[in-house]
Amino acid sequence: MTTSALRNQLDRTAVSAAISAVIRDVPDFPKPGILFKDITPMLGHPEVFQLSIAALHQLYADAKLDYIVGIESRGFIFGAPLAIALGAGFVPVRKPGKLPAECHTIEYALEYGTDTLQIHKDAIPAGKRVLIIDDLLATGGTVKATLELVRSTGADVVGAAFIVELSFLNGRERLPDCEIQTLVTY
Ligand code: AMP
Repeated sequence: MTTSALRNQLDRTAVSAAISAVIRDVPDFPKPGILFKDITPMLGHPEVFQLSIAALHQLYADAKLDYIVGIESRGFIFGAPLAIALGAGFVPVRKPGKLPAECHTIEYALEYGTDTLQIHKDAIPAGKRVLIIDDLLATGGTVKATLELVRSTGADVVGAAFIVELSFLNGRERLPDCEIQTLVTY
């Protein structure tokens, strides 16, 4: 199924089934009550990893993207190969204290406490077309903060893409002004 899907226009149902077959559910990680969707088995299946990048490439082939922004850390795994496939640059959004030059910083609320993300101030020239990538859309808090951070550089954010969406957490509702694409929906 995987190879035939790759041959022509990718069949989104086949892509979703192939990916979903190699995503592992880990109950109670990182804390009790969370069902963690582990994408690492998928990375060990080269044909499915490749298929996920091919599917994203197909979605954005005509989007004239200048940069892919990957969210630390699983967003790097998918964002970098997609950037190469699309002929775009890659920009990391990182946890605090990791980026060496001058940064824009955003602090955002979690269920308990806050988290912080940073981007280099000079990473994206104003007006450039950008896609944000992460592995999974849950409540949408991380990508909402990233969207604000990337917009603070003056970039034009074309949308955000994810391998997995947990639709019951309604992350999309927090992002009414951002076009979202996901490959597998639970
Ligand atoms: P959120 O800000 O709630 O959309 O959470 C998104 C971030 O948390 C992503 O970087 C995900 O990798 C991670 N995440 C949240 N919930 C899960 C889950 N159930 N399984 C795997 N990763 C998760």
